Amino acid sequence: MTGALTPEQEKAYLDKLSEALQIGYSILTNGGNSIDSVEATVRVLEDSPLFNAGKGSVFNCEGKNEMDASIMNGKNLKAGAIAAVHTIRNPVSGARAVMEKSSHVLLAGDGAEKFAKECGIEIVPPTYFYDEERHQQWLATKDMEGASWAGDTYIATPEKKLGTVGCVALDSAGNLAAATSTGGVNNKKFGRVGDSPLIGAGCYADNKTCAVSCTGEGEYFIRQAIAFDVSALMEYKGFSVLQAATEGIKKVAQLGGEGGLIAIDNQGNIAVPFNTSSMFRGWINSQGEKFTGIFR
Ligand code: ASP
Repeated sequence: MTGALTPEQEKAYLDKLSEALQIGYSILTNGGNSIDSVEATVRVLEDSPLFNAGKGSVFNCEGKNEMDASIMNGKNLKAGAIAAVHTIRNPVSGARAVMEKSSHVLLAGDGAEKFAKECGIEIVPPTYFYDEERHQQWLATKDMEGASWAGDTYIATPEKKLGTVGCVALDSAGNLAAATSTGGVNNKKFGRVGDSPLIGAGCYADNKTCAVSCTGEGEYFIRQAIAFDVSALMEYKGFSVLQAATEGIKKVAQLGGEGGLIAIDNQGNIAVPFNTSSMFRGWINSQGEKFTGIFR
């Protein structure tokens, strides 16, 4: 459905995707590694109120922005994640600090924020994340039963015109990385944690197979460990990344869920299946060709 975005809005989304891609790509072409690339790319999207991550995150049932993020290194299977945080300006960098500076994988709530601060990660007041349009979306839906999905993939109704962000990358040394960051779902229950910070559900990377970042109704991705499943289908069944990623989204759809994912294999093949009307997406391939798109 194209009616929900004006041509100006569409351009703003595509330009921001393009800017983020260019930053990640230039790190890779200058010999940087895939972890630096995915973190930098996701930070650009977190800083933009256009997407449902960092600034511009959706509101939970108490009217608060409560964010989740993760990052994974396919070279050594190290991973870090944070959940239900309110003051870490760039949640993906908080996740990276957990991966690199702690012996843990996932920190949540106050502890995650305290740890990020100790690591020198930028802390901001919760009001930093406020976005007027998002707030209006929440006010319009807050008395409805349950949460409404905030899939970045989905543009059909105003309250769904939101956007979890993610990035996957392969560097010149053959190392894969994935990162995912989100405000979760609009009007979610306080303390609700989605798939985005759960390694194997909304984020996964393994140099043997692929790197994956998911978006959509997180509960469906958690219950089927979709990000890991894509990797496992490649490893155990010899699927291509396109076959495995398509199968992952098929499983989400079979249970009644909606969403999409981005995946790249260790040869640089890219797959971006989704079962929604649209998904903000883009890539630059190893030939340097760039694509950005929203609708099917
Ligand atoms: N997957 C995210 C969550 O469930 C939401 C989204 O991708 O829009 O928290």
